[in-house]
Amino acid sequence: MSWTVALHGGAGVLSRSRKKEKKDALLRALDAAAAILDAKGGAVDAVAAAVVVLEDSGLFNAGRGAVCNAAGAHELDASIMDGATLQAGGVAGVRRVRNPVLAALRVMRETPHVLLIGAGAERFARQRVAEAYFVRSKKRAARHGTVGAVALDANGNLAAATSTGGTSAKLPGRVGDSPLVGAGTYADNATCAVSGTGLGEAFMRTALAYDVAARMRYLGESLPRAARAALRGVAAIGGDGGLVAVDRRGRIAMPFNSPGMARASLSARGRRQVEP
Ligand code: ASP
Repeated sequence: MSWTVALHGGAGVLSRSRKKEKKDALLRALDAAAAILDAKGGAVDAVAAAVVVLEDSGLFNAGRGAVCNAAGAHELDASIMDGATLQAGGVAGVRRVRNPVLAALRVMRETPHVLLIGAGAERFARQRVAEAYFVRSKKRAARHGTVGAVALDANGNLAAATSTGGTSAKLPGRVGDSPLVGAGTYADNATCAVSGTGLGEAFMRTALAYDVAARMRYLGESLPRAARAALRGVAAIGGDGGLVAVDRRGRIAMPFNSPGMARASLSARGRRQVEP
């Protein structure tokens, strides 16, 4: 059994600036996941490691690079899901957590809960950084730039993780799809692992990530077909964005209906693709 990993660095109008740095960060994230998967590590650890690299890079709208809400504050969301057990964890609205994806992982592994929000999530995360840690850009950051990863490990287990600063200038307290299982993130060994990016409200209203898995399960659709159909549902209500997904046979789909989507993938057989 071989392994596969796919990542996204957000959907939308891709800015030309820092393209090389973004490409390098995506490659480093692929490498971080590949090191774990090559050593027969689990898909959950692989997607978490990849997302940490992207959160720490400051180049995407997640972790260090997260955009601000309308009040000029950061409110970060993330989630992770284990396709082997359907266990999941998420955090929403955390303001000073360095790696929201790791907080989500701990929610999954160390609590009986799925989603922690706000101050409680913050205290639980124990990863407080100073406000100055976050990158401030004079130009309003692009609305998109969320990060996510999906993986199939050598034992046939699937996992997905997503992390974001949300939509820029969002109302304080707004939560998007990224920390919500079934909307921005889903993984089930029976079907696929999915991480989405785009207009979160549309992803929530269509249960985008779960819709991909459900189409495979109930309609017997292939992953690429299910992923495209689910995205058409997002478009039908005026949303745009994209997703990365992998099925239990290691087939990858990375469709988007936005002008662009930063993405990358790699398999044990060495096929590597990067579009920053
Ligand atoms: N889906 C994210 C949100 O709505 C934003 C994005 O992917 O760009 O919070």
